[in-house]
Amino acid sequence: MTVSGAARIAGVTGDPVSHSLSPILMQIWIEAAGLDALYAPFPVLPQDFETAIRGLAKAGCRGVNVTLPHKEAALEFANASSSIARAVGAANLLTFTSAGIHADNTDIAGFLAALEPANLDYGKTRALVFGAGGAARALVYALLTVGVTKLAICNRNMTRAQGLARDIAPDADIIPWDARDDALSGSNLIVNATSLGLNGNTELVLDWQRVAPGSVAFDSVYTPLNTGFLAGAAGRGLTAIDGLDMLIGQARPSFQAFYGRPVPHVADLRNRLIRVLEAR
Ligand code: NAP
Repeated sequence: MTVSGAARIAGVTGDPVSHSLSPILMQIWIEAAGLDALYAPFPVLPQDFETAIRGLAKAGCRGVNVTLPHKEAALEFANASSSIARAVGAANLLTFTSAGIHADNTDIAGFLAALEPANLDYGKTRALVFGAGGAARALVYALLTVGVTKLAICNRNMTRAQGLARDIAPDADIIPWDARDDALSGSNLIVNATSLGLNGNTELVLDWQRVAPGSVAFDSVYTPLNTGFLAGAAGRGLTAIDGLDMLIGQARPSFQAFYGRPVPHVADLRNRLIRVLEAR
């Protein structure tokens, strides 16, 4: 692939950003589409976020994806934002235009795309979401938009769960962390939006025998792909979905926003990304 002086540049910014799969994913699509383009990692400290974003915009960059810990700052800093980003309170996509910096949140679309193969009837879905951080906010918002019949939020820090409910889901049940297993029997979609299970963190251990057969488990974590949470769900015979398809799903609208082209079809995309993860 050649990159000319007229190449379209975009990237991902975070602190750290070295773990991100997005540059590899985007570069696969750039090559498949035959674009004169680049997608680069931009490690940026929180105190430098505003200066770095302004500099990238001034330097002709098309935009950036935003990962931890900048998602809230990205929303606050933008000149304009989508109603979704405002509702969630965080942005993972900044696009730079002549009118200024626009913030959006594509994690919602990514999560719902990842759930598609499970063919859930949302009108009969009773969702239990573990977590109350940035990812949980997007996932809870997504579940409300598709009209789940019941929503419960369980987080170690109860105040944070109450804040999430107040901002986004006032009708949600708040489950104390110590009662997490008790909430399983009333739920048929179990979502891990905590960082438990991520990169050697303690696992989210649940009593999966309490979950009804036919239920679905989704883990937002994708490093590693096979968390203790998903192993427990699979051991119970449930449909177990990892976070990789959410990552791919949130990247699709970003690619289109940066490069102005539809995402090309890449037949073995998921397997290529899994091989990258396995080689780490
Ligand atoms: P965050 O804002 O830092 O929130 C972390 C969450 O994990 C909080 O709810 C926190 O609970 C909980 N937690 C952390 N350590 C815990 C522990 N020892 N015991 C119980 N709960 C604990 O992070 P985030 O942005 O929401 O990200 C959460 C996860 O989503 C991460 O694993 C991230 O990789 C993943 N994610 C995936 C995608 C994707 O595309 N697949 C996209 C975004 C995020 P407290 O409030 O009690 O501290």
